[in-house]
Amino acid sequence: MLTPPSNDISAISAALTSGDLGQLIYDRAANIFPICRSITGIGVRNTLQQLGQIIPIAQRHIPSGTKLYDWIVPDEWTFREAYIADVAGRRLVDASNNNLHVLNYSASVNAIITRDELATHIHTLKSQPDLIPYRTSYYVRAWGFCLSQQQWDALPPGPFHVVIDTTHTPGHLSYGEYIHHGDTFEEVLLSAHICHPSLANDNCSGLAVLTTLAERMQTIRTRYTYRFVFAPGTIGALAWLSQNEQQLARIIAGLTVSCVGDAGGPNYKKSRRGNTLIDRAMSHACRTASPRPEISEFSPYGYDERQYCSPGFNLPVGSFQRSKWGQFPEYHTSADNLNFIRPQHLAESARTIAQTIDILEDNWCPISLSPKGEPQLGQRGLYVTSPTGDTTAVDANMASLWVLNLADGAHSILDMAERSNLSFTVLASAAARLKAAGLLAAYAPPSTALKRQRRRFKIKPDQPK
Ligand code: ZN
Repeated sequence: MLTPPSNDISAISAALTSGDLGQLIYDRAANIFPICRSITGIGVRNTLQQLGQIIPIAQRHIPSGTKLYDWIVPDEWTFREAYIADVAGRRLVDASNNNLHVLNYSASVNAIITRDELATHIHTLKSQPDLIPYRTSYYVRAWGFCLSQQQWDALPPGPFHVVIDTTHTPGHLSYGEYIHHGDTFEEVLLSAHICHPSLANDNCSGLAVLTTLAERMQTIRTRYTYRFVFAPGTIGALAWLSQNEQQLARIIAGLTVSCVGDAGGPNYKKSRRGNTLIDRAMSHACRTASPRPEISEFSPYGYDERQYCSPGFNLPVGSFQRSKWGQFPEYHTSADNLNFIRPQHLAESARTIAQTIDILEDNWCPISLSPKGEPQLGQRGLYVTSPTGDTTAVDANMASLWVLNLADGAHSILDMAERSNLSFTVLASAAARLKAAGLLAAYAPPSTALKRQRRRFKIKPDQPK
């Protein structure tokens, strides 16, 4: 049953209004940007520790070798240094300048080799000759360097001293979890991947936005429980799913959050189920935030929604981004750096997610207590007059009319927003005013006094959606 919110409406959005939100999120993304992360190892734990200074994140550790459905937790990767030097010892390429230079999860090497031999271990981007690519080799053991094409072309003829000092040893896969407890056990899952090294949009941005949102929600009482999960891509999401399989029925909505700091989008990809509460709430929030949001249907490629929406789980989890992964030139290159993400875009992303949460929190099903004809709003001081006819007053009056008309117990405020093309916030405010004036009550299941009231008024609600 959806009852009116116990909080003021838009409480989560209101919690984001103090301070310079964008700069705060940006600084937090910048703090974790330099850390050399991978799917396992100290980089993930150091990142969780940094974010753990903002909210109390619990770290979970799954031992290497643990079977997770069709996958196995790999060994821990420890990275110490990687460089290409000339035989005199002068370092020509050094991963201490940019951790993208080392193939992520690379095997170790220490050898003097020719340029031709080295060429088979070099990754460049011919079409973007000034950028270093981000490459991984998680499930095939290989060593390698990633260079800009210009760097590679400028290297001398060789021979070279190549050093990659790494180890792969049994350890743990680590992920982080923070839970904001609500009044019910029903949960909203907010998930970001934490396995990429120095890439700002993909996905320091998602980690910083969600951490800040969790921090600001701390003092707010919510209807739902919010579970924030920061896990390495794919294997980390599978680890979380395997640890929580008995409780997945609690998840009523979820989002993967990535690439939320650039100027593109917003983009929302629906859950596999396609018309769940999160799909509707997020679509509405994106349309409110932007004149041209892109709302797309589910596809089995992208981030960890692939795992959450796999058929054995089929959770109502969508994906929120600004520019879509793989479709911006900076994607998986050294150009996805701290100049590429901007405070105002980070703030806008946080606000869009906050508005979505407000929709989940503030949604309810009203029933009119004066359903025969329109109640007289003016007499009750509920008709907003505006000599200039400004749109706020017009919208407020239209919202009152829509709410009263659809208040048959079968329409939620979100249903009304979709049908009226008015914003959820305007309708929720109108519903709160009408309820305070005694014109609405919360629709309760037909075993209560409201059932009698429905019978008395002979209200035949439409079938719920
Ligand atoms: Zn990525």
